[in-house]
Amino acid sequence: MWAQMSNRDELYTQAEEKLNSFLAQQYRRKTPERYEVLRIICSIDDIFTLEQLADRMRAEGKFQVSRSTLFNIIDLFVEARLLIKHNLPGAAHYECCVQDRPYLYLVCTQCGSIHAIRHPQMEKVIATVKSRKITICQRVLYLNGTCKRCEMANRKERNKRQNSNHISEQV
Ligand SMILES: [Zn+2]
Repeated sequence: MWAQMSNRDELYTQAEEKLNSFLAQQYRRKTPERYEVLRIICSIDDIFTLEQLADRMRAEGKFQVSRSTLFNIIDLFVEARLLIKHNLPGAAHYECCVQDRPYLYLVCTQCGSIHAIRHPQMEKVIATVKSRKITICQRVLYLNGTCKRCEMANRKERNKRQNSNHISEQV
């Protein structure tokens, strides 16, 4: 996903600058944990849950931050607009959004799966949207639906019900 964001160091430098100015504005401390988590987030090329991030941190074995500390850091990053928080059915999912671009997603409302899409035409349209009512600071668009896997499972379930009705009618 988003192959053009391959330069991870450049991404981290941008993220670091954003975090520096956010912390300075808010008179908050530059703790090493915050920067370590930021570095890991910048290396993840996908949408992730808090659980997956904690696993990644454990695997890298760099910082043993508690779950509540990690949660607070993630919250701070959402506030600083370094992360997008996707409120999906089930667990909340997060995604690095350091580089400004429209974020377009296809969401299955049944299982909560989410897929980012890139659509140049849609990007152009979103870029032209202006409103007097709000100042747009993040361009995130969700298209809700039913994914193929859920559709197939639903069809199977329907067929099963129809068959059992049919059998009971025959009896
Ligand atoms: Zn689904």
